[in-house]
Amino acid sequence: MIKKLMSFAILVLLASSMQAQDELTPQLYETYEDYKESSIGKRRIKHADIQPLIQKFKANPKFEVQKVGESIQGRDLHLISIGSGDSNIFLWSQMHGDEPTATQAIFDILNFLDAPEFNEEKEAILSKLKLHFLPMLNPDGAEVFTRRNALGIDINRDALRLQSPEGQTLKRLRDSLDADFGFNLHDQSKYYNAERTEKPATISYLATAYNYEKDINEVRANAMKVIVYMNKIIQNYAPGQVGRYSDDFEPRAFGDNIAKWGTSLILIESGGYPDDPEKQEIRKLNYVSILSALYTIANESFKNIPIGDYEKIPRNDRMLFDLKIENVTYELMGDDYILDLGIFNHEVDLEGHNQFYYKSSVADQGDLSTFYGYKTFDANGYKIVPPKVAQVTRIEHPMDLLKDGVAFVKTEKPEKSAFVHFPLILVNDAFKLKNFRLQPGINPTFFLEKEGKLTHAVINGFLIDLSKPLDQQNTGNGLINGK
Ligand SMILES: [Zn+2]
Repeated sequence: MIKKLMSFAILVLLASSMQAQDELTPQLYETYEDYKESSIGKRRIKHADIQPLIQKFKANPKFEVQKVGESIQGRDLHLISIGSGDSNIFLWSQMHGDEPTATQAIFDILNFLDAPEFNEEKEAILSKLKLHFLPMLNPDGAEVFTRRNALGIDINRDALRLQSPEGQTLKRLRDSLDADFGFNLHDQSKYYNAERTEKPATISYLATAYNYEKDINEVRANAMKVIVYMNKIIQNYAPGQVGRYSDDFEPRAFGDNIAKWGTSLILIESGGYPDDPEKQEIRKLNYVSILSALYTIANESFKNIPIGDYEKIPRNDRMLFDLKIENVTYELMGDDYILDLGIFNHEVDLEGHNQFYYKSSVADQGDLSTFYGYKTFDANGYKIVPPKVAQVTRIEHPMDLLKDGVAFVKTEKPEKSAFVHFPLILVNDAFKLKNFRLQPGINPTFFLEKEGKLTHAVINGFLIDLSKPLDQQNTGNGLINGK
């Protein structure tokens, strides 16, 4: 009985300490816009974009800013530190150049730490912890929006060989800080979902393993507990949209080695979120999640969390398409077949890697009943109609052409442009429409009809309802010469 009473008392204590922190999180979420670093609002950010921000914090006596290394192409790497606690916390982002979401969130967090509000909570964090941020570890990759660095290697496979100056910097900092917690901040494909659900894995977490056996020592258990805490928070804002990243051990990766070297390692992967191509909602979730984690680490409330809850977070799976068309009728050689279509809208960078357009492909077709879509259209009773080509001097109303079943247009084309903002494919006079054949890899451009009447167009992988105005739909972009 006494034992029972005691465990009840512990439960009450636990519940009240969790509650105390949960009061912070809604405020973090609601006041986010006050701290958001608005100068970096798109994903294709570059080293030059963050230098004025780093200089701003360098001039601020609350922060310590040091140059800690250089990239291969000579771009400075900076460490921004704040706090007076004994426990070092090390956060680094964008080891992969095309994974900028957490870099943006780091500057939001720094703005928050600098602001006059939330003093009590910040004092609780900064008196216990010393925070060290290394934003954009791979600036050469960020410059051209690619994963790898200028040497063409994946820095996250260089933890042992240490050939890259970026990897050397990360290792040196890990060794000198000997941090209690490390936050390894990445982006993952938007096609990851929470296992066996249609929900995207908007955020995925991993308490990185330190050996092939995936053993759980105290260092790893602490990471698991903090992740359980963060997951609970994100569920309030993106219910069902958290995944657990694979914990397979990778001996060459930084996260795995840093965990082995004694730091509780938390991997955060920013995935996809519906209608958020620049991932700004996901950036906000990073901000809320990381700040809440720092708070629970500082007040040690995470220690009471059972690690069994970690395994309850659904695994990451990769079963999403941008567009899934189900049960469509497709005629081939005089016979009708029922197919599902899975479509990807790939991003193609424009010169300078500041902007992109979409070029889509059929990723898969057949029975796709185990897959999901950001957008799903049940085409039961609809039939695929091949597109037509037309010649016009000027395109006045794209919808008029679409309603006639025209997707390819011979017309004057804008110079030096790879795409057009309306959903048509502009082609040269010599263009000839080949026999339409649905197969993986093709650009999905066709029409749907029901009971003999055209109802929808699919142009460059975007579904368009022909009964609604174009400006009320996400019609993506059209292409020029299929480029
Ligand atoms: Zn990554």
